[in-house]
Amino acid sequence: MADVEYAIVGGGVVGRAIALALSPQDGEIVVLERCPADRVENQSTRNSGVIHAGIYYRRSERPIKARLCVEGNARLYEFCKENDVPHANTGKLVVATNTREEDYLQGILATARENAVPGVRILNAREVQAIEPNILATAALLAPTSGVIDSAAYLAALQRVGRAHSLFATEVVSIQDNGASFELETQCVGNSERFTARYVINAAGAQADEIARMVNPDCGFQLVPSRGEAAKFYQSRRPSLAMGGRNIYPVPAGFYPDGTHANVPYEEFQSLLRAGVITETVGVHLTPTLDDKGKVANTMTIGPAIQAGVAKDDLASGLYPPAHYLRSVSAYFPGLRVDDIELHQAGIQARMAGQLDWHIQRDVKHSNCIHVLGIDSPGMTGSLAIGRLVAELLVS
Ligand SMILES: Cc1cc2nc3c(=O)[nH]c(=O)nc-3n(C[C@H](O)[C@H](O)[C@H](O)COP(=O)(O)OP(=O)(O)OC[C@H]3O[C@@H](n4cnc5c(N)ncnc54)[C@H](O)[C@@H]3O)c2cc1C
Repeated sequence: MADVEYAIVGGGVVGRAIALALSPQDGEIVVLERCPADRVENQSTRNSGVIHAGIYYRRSERPIKARLCVEGNARLYEFCKENDVPHANTGKLVVATNTREEDYLQGILATARENAVPGVRILNAREVQAIEPNILATAALLAPTSGVIDSAAYLAALQRVGRAHSLFATEVVSIQDNGASFELETQCVGNSERFTARYVINAAGAQADEIARMVNPDCGFQLVPSRGEAAKFYQSRRPSLAMGGRNIYPVPAGFYPDGTHANVPYEEFQSLLRAGVITETVGVHLTPTLDDKGKVANTMTIGPAIQAGVAKDDLASGLYPPAHYLRSVSAYFPGLRVDDIELHQAGIQARMAGQLDWHIQRDVKHSNCIHVLGIDSPGMTGSLAIGRLVAELLVS
């Protein structure tokens, strides 16, 4: 018999949500996290804090993201209410500033409707002005189920609930399939330990490809890191910086490998993305922050400004200057000035090379191991739905 039933590698929101979903099952659950308990630094604590509505992902291309984002959105609001996690259902505007971008709004609207995202509709310029007077737009898509959350408080709440046993400062360094169980070797403050687990769940974020190779050296998974940087400004500084409390996004942008913007109609954008010719970003957006009671605060964040080709642990070298943020948002937020902008934080996101969707599957050779790979944005929003899916895969 194995020492524990479930060993979850990675104590981010995904690993924790899986632990919570497995809590009703019999057997011991252990979450192994390499960071110390008082300094868990990962994607889950360094993200934009947006609760996504699920409007961007087409079911034909990204069925898992499309489904789990919408499901996760509803589960996340419920979890926050039950566990006192600061959050706010602010809604979100995706703004267009010209006719090409208005065409993008129609494409996003069609996807949102296909995904059954509630309440999504297009606003005209006058309607946008009425609710966000400092935003310049010819039209906008309103997604009422979008919101903001205190990501660190969410991770802490997930750690509190459920019945998993947490080991911090514990790095998994090898995993061996012994037939009836897996033997895991860990390093904790210089000490090596070994134990066995019947099931291994790989939820190691940006390192999930390395964990996958420990289980199955032939798996071929590769995660491509990119850095998302964010800045901030204070709304009370001038009337032209005051916001209506919503997330404000431009239309998504695509980039060729040399960094050139793919200035193409929406359907062409989608086919270039499908073919792997461009990479996509949701664009540099404005996001409210929350006080500890969940009320929208004075600070607004601006980001992410994406840097490709960085190392998985490089949070600091060559950060974008304030002028980059100004250029990125000035078309729809003209009241901002460069000296309003302060650098805020950076986080590393990891996408699966050559794949648009998340990978949540049993290992092809070692079926008692489930890999949860390439959980890029909106992975925090989808986390509770990912947990539900992994628990179902394990007990099926
Ligand atoms: C800049 C940025 C902005 C984002 N914005 C949003 C947003 O607004 N909304 C949204 O829904 N999503 C957003 N995301 C995505 C979201 O943050 C991630 O999808 C989610 O946090 C992934 O969680 P995770 O648990 O898979 O990974 P992580 O949070 O990275 O956790 C993985 C954990 O595994 C641990 N680990 C790694 N290797 C080992 C090992 N060998 N042994 C033990 N432990 C190990 C790491 O220390 C880490 O704590 C954003 C991401 C970034 C980077």
